[in-house]
Amino acid sequence: MTLGRALLYASTVGAIGLGARSVARGPLPAPVVAGAFLGFSSVVMAGVLEPRLAMFADVINAAEPEPDAPRVALTFDDGPSVATTPRVLDLLAEAGASATFFVIGRKLTGEGAAIVRRAHAAGHAVACHSFAHDRLFALRGPRRVREDLVQALSVIEDVTGARTTLFRPPIGHTNPTIARVAEELGLTMVGFSVRAYDGRAGAVPEVVVTRVVRGLTDGAIVLLHDAAEREDYTPVAPTILPGILAAMQERGLAGVTVDALLG
Ligand SMILES: [Zn+2]
Repeated sequence: MTLGRALLYASTVGAIGLGARSVARGPLPAPVVAGAFLGFSSVVMAGVLEPRLAMFADVINAAEPEPDAPRVALTFDDGPSVATTPRVLDLLAEAGASATFFVIGRKLTGEGAAIVRRAHAAGHAVACHSFAHDRLFALRGPRRVREDLVQALSVIEDVTGARTTLFRPPIGHTNPTIARVAEELGLTMVGFSVRAYDGRAGAVPEVVVTRVVRGLTDGAIVLLHDAAEREDYTPVAPTILPGILAAMQERGLAGVTVDALLG
């Protein structure tokens, strides 16, 4: 039982209890009803917005430590980017580290496809971050969610020749519909244990590196961005990666793909 699910069950039991009480002993005061409603909605919203709670879906956020062979899975979302992903690949190659790229299917055309092919050939995992990166993905019905994921999986397979089983939902929002469709398609949902907060304009490289390095422990999954989702800012990945890779080396942490991390 995850913390998120325990929270959801507890709130549901609480809501049912309040309902039963008002049936047995007359209506509750309005402020109590409003408070209970607000509390319950907040719990559900938190579950949608925060994949680390694993409220609606089994999301892998980290792996058990392996003291004999400590390792970290660096993951890059929203790519590929013609401007920055090649540099990220160069830095990973120099450090002898592997990583996982959660790519946006619609970006796998032309040069984008060639970059992803290069990543796959270099031993990195190319995984699914949806086709359209619809920011309202968590509000879509099952048919729309399925169509998007099937399209993304098919374009990734066309480009790399491999079918990925790893999926990170756009913006990290999860709900029962996304969880069900992912399961039907044989996808494992991947969250993160360390969030760099680098996927935005104005991210300060030194701050990002400090934040990530603090969380670099055996079994961690680190959320980074090798591209801006809408190409509207310059990602800091090439600037922050040397510091992160150096800290990993210092701590004896190998850089592995999420597939390798999960064994
Ligand atoms: Zn994204």
